[in-house]
Amino acid sequence: MENTLYTGALWHPYTQHKTALPPIKITRGEGAQLWDENGKEYIDAIASWWVNPFGHSNPYIANAIYKQLTTLEHVLFGGFTHDPALKLAERLMQILPNNQKKFFFSDNGSTAVEVALKASLQYFYNKGEKRTRVIAFEDAFHGDTFAAMAASGISFFTEAFKGSLIEVARIPVPVPGKEQESLEALQSLVATEDFAAFIFEPLVQGAAGMVMYSPEALTDLINVCKEHGVFTIADEVMTGFGKTGKNFACDYLTAQPDIMCLSKALTGGTIPMAITSFTDHIFNGFYSDDVNKALFHGHTFTANPTGCAAAHAALDLLLQETTMQSIARITESHTAFMHKMLKHPRVKTARVLGVIVALEIKRDATESYYGDFRNKLYRFFIDKGVILRPVGNIVYVLTPYIITEPQLNRIYEVIEQALEEVF
Ligand SMILES: *Cc1c(COP(=O)(O)O)cnc(C)c1O
Repeated sequence: MENTLYTGALWHPYTQHKTALPPIKITRGEGAQLWDENGKEYIDAIASWWVNPFGHSNPYIANAIYKQLTTLEHVLFGGFTHDPALKLAERLMQILPNNQKKFFFSDNGSTAVEVALKASLQYFYNKGEKRTRVIAFEDAFHGDTFAAMAASGISFFTEAFKGSLIEVARIPVPVPGKEQESLEALQSLVATEDFAAFIFEPLVQGAAGMVMYSPEALTDLINVCKEHGVFTIADEVMTGFGKTGKNFACDYLTAQPDIMCLSKALTGGTIPMAITSFTDHIFNGFYSDDVNKALFHGHTFTANPTGCAAAHAALDLLLQETTMQSIARITESHTAFMHKMLKHPRVKTARVLGVIVALEIKRDATESYYGDFRNKLYRFFIDKGVILRPVGNIVYVLTPYIITEPQLNRIYEVIEQALEEVF
């Protein structure tokens, strides 16, 4: 078929413009619903790439943004500070693991990871200690900028840049049955080389297809790193702010990471912003009379007050008692759905955590990430008015917390229908 993709002058992300379907022009959003230019309604079953817990065009967050925009919309953060940032750091300190004490702002998940990796490497440089490599999981995803890409293990995202990436050592993900293999791989790495850091997506690898592993397995890995002076970086860009059923995935652990990366739901899915949080110990590695020991990293919109105001409003909503109740209700529905689906002859495995449920569909061959089967599923869901973006043969749901029971049931129904009709 001839290319019918009309994108105007736009170049879309992760898109082969020659073969992709035309993008859908969305004109309005409310709650978990979106409407296109023809008035067709969609359920946003993946919270618009995992960013939107409290619904589209949320009036509470919108008002907070408006108020900030008409008070102080932005001011440079070099040499200046402001209450929206100061108070946001204080509030985050109340809910993050209690060793997280210093907050560095940037614009998105990838930059949050860049900051974490650069700070880890420079910490040891400042000390004159040779630790120049990092460890990451197989099939990790940490973003699309260079260091984040280097840490990522999904090869088709990074293949073209192989020669230009910092070298990263990889260990297997400790999915059930592989805990020992993962632990031993880490132990043998740290026994032979002094690494600067170990970066991981705690408990759920989002982009890999919502691959899940246990808090006990991760705690063991973190403890090995602590014994060897390797910084641990929890990339909570996807998992943060309630998605796993607790404020942060790290809340399930009995060990604390040294660094955390936050973005996506930080502003309730409204304004791009990210934070990398650090222990005092790491901050002190930069604190010196020598100007060269400073972290020479920054972004023009660092700690944008409007973004901070959005984050404050999103935190207000997250910390309401009813929010955790909603998340628990969604987990319960997902769990019932998972048990039903596990009996389906086409379902190979299924898993649930927080607002996430993932089904692995049985296939004869390995399905590629953006392959034909995945595209057929995607089109089926879009046609039915449910926004789901399968990964290879994995169909996952990551709902906003405000989703209603009828909307949830509609999502499940459409997935079940896909199992009958899409091959
Ligand atoms: C999405 C994501 C990133 C990258 O965030 P961007 O805002 O897209 O740059 C990094 N890490 C994880 C775990 C993510 O899910």
